[in-house]
Amino acid sequence: MKFSDYNISPLIKEQLAIMGFNKPTDIQFKAIKHILDGEDVMAVAQTGTGKTAAFAIPVIDKLESRNRKGYKGIRCLVMVPTRELAKQISGVFNEIGKRTRIKTFGLFGGVEQEQQIRTLDNGLDVLVTTPGRMFDLISQGHLDISKLEFLVLDEADLMLDLGFMKDIQDVMKHIPNRRQTLFFTATISKKIKSLAYTVVREAIRIQISPKNPVAKNIDHAVAFVDMDDKRFFLENILKEYEEKQFIVFARTKVRVERIVAAMQRVGVKSEALHGGIEQKERFVILDRFRSGENKVLITTDVASRGIDIPTMDYVINYDLPDDAENYVHRCGRTGRGNKKGQALSFCSEAEKPLLEAIEAYTGEEIEQYEISKDDYMDILNDSDDGSYDWKKLLDKSNIEDGTEDEW
Ligand code: AMP
Repeated sequence: MKFSDYNISPLIKEQLAIMGFNKPTDIQFKAIKHILDGEDVMAVAQTGTGKTAAFAIPVIDKLESRNRKGYKGIRCLVMVPTRELAKQISGVFNEIGKRTRIKTFGLFGGVEQEQQIRTLDNGLDVLVTTPGRMFDLISQGHLDISKLEFLVLDEADLMLDLGFMKDIQDVMKHIPNRRQTLFFTATISKKIKSLAYTVVREAIRIQISPKNPVAKNIDHAVAFVDMDDKRFFLENILKEYEEKQFIVFARTKVRVERIVAAMQRVGVKSEALHGGIEQKERFVILDRFRSGENKVLITTDVASRGIDIPTMDYVINYDLPDDAENYVHRCGRTGRGNKKGQALSFCSEAEKPLLEAIEAYTGEEIEQYEISKDDYMDILNDSDDGSYDWKKLLDKSNIEDGTEDEW
């Protein structure tokens, strides 16, 4: 089935063709028809499967066909856990709905209110928002969600993790009972199910790749590397694949900054993105990455969800995540839609239990990237980082001593 065969507005079809969306992805194939039929949907779909368009396409189509002239309140509310997601999803709505009359806005905190209020006062159809700023604006009377037709909860599992349960319940008090609800989560747990059943009614349940939560079109590999040597391996890869785009995940903000500095020392340009950087600047950094102006983004798990960069080639787990689930989200940054991606993890001795936890969670062993002792040493020796010289000396003296094996 192709999008051209769907019973949706030609204005949307034309735009999808321009975007290069010809065939629906799995989740789109399973969800769109039910949403068009007016049913509630509860979908478990991992990141990168095309789930945004799975709800954006039918919602835009229905809003467009049921045009409510003169009504200025919100008709579809999309609740998301992070500002980055609000920005990204509103962007997808605006792009898919470009030729329609449907207006979408991404609302979030951390930026000035005035401009946002002006946009709301002018009237819009779809609001994509994080909970905090939305409640501020409802209480100030700038936001009316009382006649909502659609409620979408996206990345509901992350919303619960971030403590938004009460906010979701509060939203329920402001919106009509008669509405269509679309509930999306990347993972499923008892808590998620019970939340879902308080918001959806007789929902169609859809699950994408339940047994293997890691997107199918990603090649995974792990390299066993000493903690102190990771930067040399990163340098080696980034220099070898200069023209490719990388996202590199590290455990903490401090480590992110250190890696960026280490790469700078060896002449590799990269940028840091983490929660310690101001929101406005974070968007600018993301835009530079999206446009390809910067090819290497070094980040914490803050950015492991919500970034959609279609051209991204590699995910590097410089540090393995403490939480196995985050491995899936990180790797979801590559191999998006129908594209192929690669994920390489550096695993130190101390991180082996984390690797086991990831393999237990995904149910699949990650292929080991074999590095011979000679290659390993070559990578260290090839580094342009002067700080490695002492190691070269040590290495040399070990070989001369005949103690190479212990080293
Ligand atoms: P999402 O899971 O919604 O973040 O989407 C992941 C990526 O897949 C995005 O880069 C979309 O542009 C892309 N995508 C979504 N649907 C399709 C489709 N039907 N054909 C090609 N690419 C798609």
